[in-house]
Amino acid sequence: MLAALSAAEPVWTDGHYFGGAARLLRGRAAGLDLAVLDAPHLFSRPGNPYAAANGAEWPDNPQRFAALARMAATIATDDSIGPPPDVVHAHDWQAGLTMAYLDGESRRPATVLTVHNLAFQGNFDAAVLPSLGLPANAFRMEGAEFHGMVGYLKAGLALADAITTVSPTYAAEIQTPEFGMGFDGLLAHRKAALHGILNGIDDAIWDPATDDTIAAKFDVDHLAGRPINKLALQSHFGLDRNADALLLGVISRLSWQKGLDMLLPLRDTLAALGAQLVVIGAGEPDLEHRFRAAAAAHPGRIACFIGYDEALAHKVQAGIDAILIPSRFEPCGLTQLCALRYGALPIVARVGGLADTVIDANAAALDANTGTGLQFSPGQFAQALNRAAGLWSRREIWSRLQRNAMQTDVSWRRPAAQYAALYKSLV
Ligand code: ADP
Repeated sequence: MLAALSAAEPVWTDGHYFGGAARLLRGRAAGLDLAVLDAPHLFSRPGNPYAAANGAEWPDNPQRFAALARMAATIATDDSIGPPPDVVHAHDWQAGLTMAYLDGESRRPATVLTVHNLAFQGNFDAAVLPSLGLPANAFRMEGAEFHGMVGYLKAGLALADAITTVSPTYAAEIQTPEFGMGFDGLLAHRKAALHGILNGIDDAIWDPATDDTIAAKFDVDHLAGRPINKLALQSHFGLDRNADALLLGVISRLSWQKGLDMLLPLRDTLAALGAQLVVIGAGEPDLEHRFRAAAAAHPGRIACFIGYDEALAHKVQAGIDAILIPSRFEPCGLTQLCALRYGALPIVARVGGLADTVIDANAAALDANTGTGLQFSPGQFAQALNRAAGLWSRREIWSRLQRNAMQTDVSWRRPAAQYAALYKSLV
């Protein structure tokens, strides 16, 4: 993208921007109007946006993300760069300092901060302050100060005109000590400005009717392809090729948040139910090791791939009967949205966006034919697996749930309209 933009004229330059030469390029790429901060001394390096190839976080991350935030504030207020926007919408701690740079500006656009996960806060030692060039009073309790540190997310939460998070349930949960991660007081105080808007997924990329990565295409009216994908998946992972075994899947970061440590002790439950399990994930070494060991101990019944592989995720969604998401907290969750679209019933912990996007197949929902998966309360994971097996044994009911799941609107259409309405309410 930068290659496409580099022909564009710089609209702003600075020889000493956070310690080096920087310029702002404006142009069009990928069908979008883009402004790109080109500051090689901050961003041109191997590794990923946060860390070097060896996993060590870049020591100048406070300055790197402050540079982006400060540039956003400049674009928002400096007419010489281009027409100012109506709304500045910042995401997560990485962009949270934008609100601090805009703080006190007499003419500024409306501001929105979206929180995708309150666990990632961007708190840095106050010693970085002189390098940030923040307005003089930014480091105060009602601004960027957080327990004596510079809080990037805190700045956004304190100063944005509106805060959104990625599901209504998470918006309510984070006002409580259990889920607030130290921000519950502030968020309860800002309740009137806090909105929950669910995420969507790209339903063109996640479309089993056109998906070239899966063994057989299918849709809600033509489900014959689904068992073909199941057999292909069983073959791929060396599981017993058995259309009647309930095939469960996990596609996840392997971290404490995702609660998958609670799945490992349920291996006997799975065996008793005749269920199979395929796991693709990466993350904490201990969990990676334990899932590898579970697969080695249960050949033909449990399989795992440790790593990140998006094409494989499509094959898994298309072939499993149900996906397991026992998260301890989940701001929104995307995996269950993909699963709904592919007719893999989500079996989810009743938290955050999982609670908002999956309709539990309880007796009332079965009567009304509205269920799309299973929800369970803390500690009830094994019971949920038993319930799933019960429904699996009544295949006509399972098929109805599967159809309901596939007809759920998981696209961006509704959320996009909600964001547009929020923007309008602010300007
Ligand atoms: P989080 O952002 O907390 O990791 P989400 O459910 O919101 O969880 O989004 C994660 C996305 O990444 C989902 O679409 C999921 O399918 C995908 N994903 C997670 N782990 C893997 C993996 N190992 N391989 C492929 N896709 C993965």
